[in-house]
Amino acid sequence: MKLTTAPSVIEPARDFPDLLPHARPAVRLHPRRGTPGPYGSHIGGPVLWPAAEPWPECTDHKDVNGRAYTLPLVAVAQFTAADFPEIRFPDGTDLVQLLWCPDWHDQPHPEGWGQACRLFWRRAAEVTDPLTGQPDPKAHPRYDEGMIPRACVLHPERVTDYPGDEELPAGLADRFETWLTERGLTDDLTTVPGYKLGGYLDWRTTGLPAALECGECRAPLELFLQCDTHEYPLGSWAPDDAPDRFRPLEERHLRTGDEAGDASREPVGMTVGRGSHAGLFVCSADPRHPASFFTQ
Ligand SMILES: [Zn+2]
Ligand SMILES: [Zn+2]
Repeated sequence: MKLTTAPSVIEPARDFPDLLPHARPAVRLHPRRGTPGPYGSHIGGPVLWPAAEPWPECTDHKDVNGRAYTLPLVAVAQFTAADFPEIRFPDGTDLVQLLWCPDWHDQPHPEGWGQACRLFWRRAAEVTDPLTGQPDPKAHPRYDEGMIPRACVLHPERVTDYPGDEELPAGLADRFETWLTERGLTDDLTTVPGYKLGGYLDWRTTGLPAALECGECRAPLELFLQCDTHEYPLGSWAPDDAPDRFRPLEERHLRTGDEAGDASREPVGMTVGRGSHAGLFVCSADPRHPASFFTQ
C-alpha cells in the first residue's frame, strides 16, 4: 500500500527561499495496523531479540509501601538499515529497536529516561537464536494503556520537513508568519505530524528546551523518532473542509467514527504526550549515547 502526502500550499523555492537552508529530510512512517514479523521494520509487534539476552526492565518504581518493583519494557519500534538507510547506524549494526517502560514517567526528561526508554543497536545476522514470545506488558497491573503500541506495519514516504517558529531565527519566523497572514494561508509546511523519522518537532506547547544537547557528551541532539497520537489533524475530518495536506490521498474516502477511519488517523493507539506528540532525540555524535525524550 502506498500512502501519499499532498503538496503544501507553500512552495519554499518559489514563495519563501529563506526557508530552504532549514529544510531537513524526514520519513513519514504511515503505520497501519497489521501483523509484522520479528525481522522487519514496524511499530509495536515483535522485535528480533536474542533468547540468551535478558529482557530489559524498568527498575524505577516503588509501590505505596516504598517497595521497589520492576516492569518489563515494551517493544515500541524496530527499524532496519535496508528499509531506512537514512538512519545513522553505528558501525557494524543494521537494526535498531526502541523499548520503553509501559508506565508513565514524570516530565520532563532532559537527560533521557535512563532505564525507562532505551534504543538497542544490533546486527541482525548475529541474532541466530531469537526469543519467541515476549513479555506481555499488560500482565503487570501497573501500566499505562497510552504507552503500549498496537502492532503496525509501515508504509514509509520520504518528505521534506521545515522547522516551526521555535527553531527558526526570530526575524525569519516573524517574516514567514507575516507572509502567511497577508495571504490568508495556514502553515501546512512545517513540523510534519504523525509518526516520522528525522525532521523537526513542533515545540509550541513547551518551547525549546534550554539546551537540546546530549547528556553524556553535550553534542547537539537530533530528532530520531516522532510519536504522535494522530497521523493528521482532527479538523480535516469535517467532510466540507478543504482537503488536509497530511491526510494521505489514498485514504480521503474514510470517515471518522468508522473503524477504518479511526485506524487511519490513530493507528498506533498511543497517547504519548497526553494526546499530543513527543520526540525521541539521539546524540548527533554517537547515537548509542542515552536517548532523550520530550513530550508536548
Ligand atoms: Zn518505568
Ligand atoms: Zn553524545
